[in-house]
Amino acid sequence: MLQTPIGYLKSVGGTKAQLLQSQLGIYTYQDLLHFFPSRYIDKTRFYKIHELYNNNSEVQLVGEISNLKVINSKGKKRLTAIFNDGTGQIQLVWYARIDWISQQIEIRKPYVIFGKIKSYQGLSMAHPEMELLEKYQKKQGVGFRAIYPSTTKLSNKGISSKVISNMMLYLFEQMKWKFEENLCIAMMQEIKLMPRHEALRHIHFPKDQESLSKAQFRLKFEELFFIQLQLIRKKLVNKHKIKGYAFDTVGHYFNTFYTQKLPFELTKAQKKVLREIRNDVGQNAQMNRLLQGDVGSGKTIVALLSMLIAIDNGFQCCMIAPTAILAQQHYDGICELLHDFPINCKLLMGSTRSKARKLLHQELESGDLQILIGTHAVLEDKVIFKNLGLAIIDEQHRFGVAQRAKLWKKNQYAPHVLIMTATPIPRTLAMSVYGDLDVSVIDQLPKGRKPIKTVHRYDNNRLQIFKFIKDEIQKGRQAYIVYPLIEESATLDYKDLMDGYESISREFPKPDYQIAIVHGKMKPQDKAYEMERFTKGEAQILVATTVIEVGVNVPNASIMVIENAERFGLSQLHQLRGRVGRGSQQSYCVLMTSFKLSSDGKTRMETMVKSTDGFEIAQVDLKLRGPGDIMGTRQSGTLDLKIADAVKDTPIMQLARYWAIQITNADPNLEAEENQMIKNTYQAISKHKNIWNYIS
Ligand code: ADP
Ligand code: MG
Repeated sequence: MLQTPIGYLKSVGGTKAQLLQSQLGIYTYQDLLHFFPSRYIDKTRFYKIHELYNNNSEVQLVGEISNLKVINSKGKKRLTAIFNDGTGQIQLVWYARIDWISQQIEIRKPYVIFGKIKSYQGLSMAHPEMELLEKYQKKQGVGFRAIYPSTTKLSNKGISSKVISNMMLYLFEQMKWKFEENLCIAMMQEIKLMPRHEALRHIHFPKDQESLSKAQFRLKFEELFFIQLQLIRKKLVNKHKIKGYAFDTVGHYFNTFYTQKLPFELTKAQKKVLREIRNDVGQNAQMNRLLQGDVGSGKTIVALLSMLIAIDNGFQCCMIAPTAILAQQHYDGICELLHDFPINCKLLMGSTRSKARKLLHQELESGDLQILIGTHAVLEDKVIFKNLGLAIIDEQHRFGVAQRAKLWKKNQYAPHVLIMTATPIPRTLAMSVYGDLDVSVIDQLPKGRKPIKTVHRYDNNRLQIFKFIKDEIQKGRQAYIVYPLIEESATLDYKDLMDGYESISREFPKPDYQIAIVHGKMKPQDKAYEMERFTKGEAQILVATTVIEVGVNVPNASIMVIENAERFGLSQLHQLRGRVGRGSQQSYCVLMTSFKLSSDGKTRMETMVKSTDGFEIAQVDLKLRGPGDIMGTRQSGTLDLKIADAVKDTPIMQLARYWAIQITNADPNLEAEENQMIKNTYQAISKHKNIWNYIS
């Protein structure tokens, strides 16, 4: 019955049904049942009119309506009436739907009305919600009132929160207040979950705060449980189905590098992650691992060591970066580290010349090329490997899913995949978006790092900042000065950048100072050239747009000045700041803004000044922007949560995940008698939306 189209419900006709569909996505009874209130009003209390003097809040009254009058003033009609509860009277006013309302009202019958009191020239209430007392009393749980999210358009068309509440009542009556359970008894008993039919009743018609809280917990759990169940089962299926290459030896290259060439001792966290990766690739199932680590935590060396394992086992590897600058940098860094090893490593980018490309293709196909580093160019169909064993994707938030899938086509078996990201993802999000990937975290920075000092300054402090930069350069340090780049106004940004560059050139004249500049409009060769001047220390200042946001590693740079910082999001600011503080010297980040700041802007600046912890910053970001924006389109579908909150409900998510794992382990195919209720819902959901088809 729950699949019945909403138009069949009592009180819902054709036009209403259409509105419900187009505005609220409610097509069936079931959709309505899962349309949850956005808030509740405590209606345990009835007020008396004589108490209302100076009260400007929302109140609920019982009384009778009389003296209906349509008043026409200056061409505008309004309807007024007197509402009397025996202790006094107030005026009721309507400015719209006058005819309909005056027909509906039953004079001198007890009504329950609800609305905001206005005390101006006597007490009044505009557009009160009204209900005959008799009908009101029939409702279950009248103590708390559910308020449904609605839009002005909907209210104007007669679909107010109250109308929805009435539809809900008809729905419940038609269902005889019965709804099937969809979780197993053992689980419900153990976590003390309210049965489903009770939870649905209390969420829509709560009696008191206690039953409401229990209902919310139960329904949030249910929602998160089924998401987790899908993710966990996907992971399980992957493990069985997606065969991978087993790297069973830890061989010569790895051991030699590890014992003789490692430029520093790995942090505990790096060692732990490396163990996790080694364990994964040693089995003949494909690895699908997400490596999270804050900026500067040292992900690259972990990637290199993983590649050495692949090569020791006779496989090729590739490493894909989102920008040419970053690919170049990885290439330079890795070539240097592998200097003494007879390993063939090449770089492939869009700008690679066709002659070099031809050789590279040949070597890839013959297996002579062991490491390919590059940009998206690596994904092109014509790039064919002999035996790609490991693909590493750096800073994946820049990477499309479709692109990632292309890697698969490059092999008989899927290569092991390691996705590295510095965008700290709050745990709840990570669990819902990457629930089917294994996650490793480098939660520790290399020894000897000093926390970056961050300050927020206004444009009129610029001279001081310049002075400070000069002092640092005097000590042999280097500085970044970054300008925003926002696609829509690229020309404007370009002008900002060029103006800035000019004034900086004046302030830091040659030959004492050398300034490099990098921006999106430059040719790749020019970018690489300018970048190199800075990496080699020939230029002390790099003026750049956000092309340097991701991954650039110049440990000697100690100052990051971010111009128009208010135009950057928090995660971007954090990324940018991560470009400094990579060596042992004290580093600084200066956020420059104008005086005018939005309140969000202020929060962002304050957060940056206060915290250097990527996870903490991500939490604030999530609060400011909501999960949709953070994860981009990738999350749509998953985090389309109807009742649970991606930020606040982490503990419930963890519980749900725990149970999803328990149940999947005990009964992988959901065959047991007691799991049939789970299975039914699971199948229905899976049919509707495959929530993971955007992952890997
Ligand atoms: P990210 O995780 O942001 O990609 P990188 O891999 O670029 O970080 O590493 C940042 C810097 O820290 C590099 O200069 C790297 O050589 C250095 N580094 C990495 N691991 C260690 C370590 N265990 N001890 C000291 N320095 C390290
Ligand atoms: Mg990096």
